[in-house]
Formats: sequence, structure tokens, C-alpha cells
Amino acid sequence: MDKEQYLGVSVSPYTYEEIIADLKKRIAAGEQSTVIAVNPEKVITAGRDPLVKELINESTYQIADGIGMIIASKLKKGQLKERVTGVDMMGRLLQFAADEGHSVFFYGAKEEVVRTAKEKLEAKIPNLRVAGYANGYVQDQEALVQAIRESGATLLFVALGSPRQELWIKENRPKLPNVKVFQGVGGSFDVYSG
Ligand code: UDP
Repeated sequence: MDKEQYLGVSVSPYTYEEIIADLKKRIAAGEQSTVIAVNPEKVITAGRDPLVKELINESTYQIADGIGMIIASKLKKGQLKERVTGVDMMGRLLQFAADEGHSVFFYGAKEEVVRTAKEKLEAKIPNLRVAGYANGYVQDQEALVQAIRESGATLLFVALGSPRQELWIKENRPKLPNVKVFQGVGGSFDVYSG
């Protein structure tokens, strides 16, 4: 399915299930994938900032977070069927990881927030393996990347706010060949810790 364009910003017309099915194939093929949430505010920011536009457009999946994207698609008779929010996409990916035996790593937010999110999600999702976590204020980036690499995690969720988290993913993805799925999740750890 072709991606839709909003002021030069790509958006994937996929449902949660379609993304998970596609990701499963990409993981099996050893490919790395990135998930980024797009809402009308980000489309506007991308219009002003070419780096933000690039970070969005080069992602594997640009999910339509925000009802504004669905309304815009309806107006131009596009394909966007339903909202695919960052926080729910993360929940689906965690369930997928638990089902498939992949472990996950959480990076970002305050120490107590990320730790509580990890504990609550482990209690909620049977068989979920959180291989490690780090708060978003750690200074030693080299040690962090090494910890993620050594954790053996296949999925990495990064919560540093946008576009910082996307920039972090772009810069560190080549150093993390074991990680196959990267998602920038903004305030999602805060949501799951609450
Ligand atoms: N954050 C972080 N390190 C930083 C700045 C922010 O870990 O240096 C975290 C912050 O604690 C929060 C998340 O990034 O958990 C940002 O969430 P926000 O809702 O602002 O992100 P958005 O979805 O709006 O981009």
C-alpha cells in the first residue's frame, strides 16, 4: 500500500495488525525497522524543519497518531482507516514480543517512571521479558549503548521527546545490530507508569 503525503510528510495507511505482520517478516529477514508517530503538529513542525521531515520520512512506519490525520485523509479520500497511536502501538509491540519470545529494552523518562512502567507492564503482560532499562537522563552514552547491545533486546522503546528520540535512534541504530525494532514513544512510559 502506498504511503500518503501530507505537506511532504509520509504517513503509512496500515492498521496495528498490518504493521505487526510486516514487522514479523522484516525481523525474520534480519532487517531493522523504525516506528514514528505522526500527528498534525509534527506535520507542521516538519514543514519548518527539514531534519524533522527527513527523520519522519526515512522511518519504516509513520503511524497516524491523532484524529486530525484521519480527518485529513477522509477529506482527500485517502486510505487511513484508523488511528494508530504511539502508546497503543507500543502495547501491541510488547504483546508481540512476549508472544514471539523477543526481549525488549526501555530507554527514557525519569528513573522512577521507567522503572514503574517496566514493573507494571511485566505484571500485565505474561511472558514479557524486559531485558533492561535506562532513564532518559543518563550521561554515559557509550555505556548505555553497550548495555542495550549486551541485553540482547530485539525491540527498543525510546522516550526522550520528539525529535530528540528519533535523532537518537538514527545515530545509534548502526551500533545496535541486534535491535530490529525501534520506536520513539514520547510520553508513553509516563502513561504506562500511571
Ligand atoms: N525526557 C528524557 N530526557 C530528556 C528529556 C525528556 O527522558 O532529556 C523524557 C521525559 O521525562 C518524558 C519524555 O521524555 O518522559 C517526553 O515526553 P513528551 O510527552 O514531552 O514527548 P512528546 O510525545 O510530546 O514528544
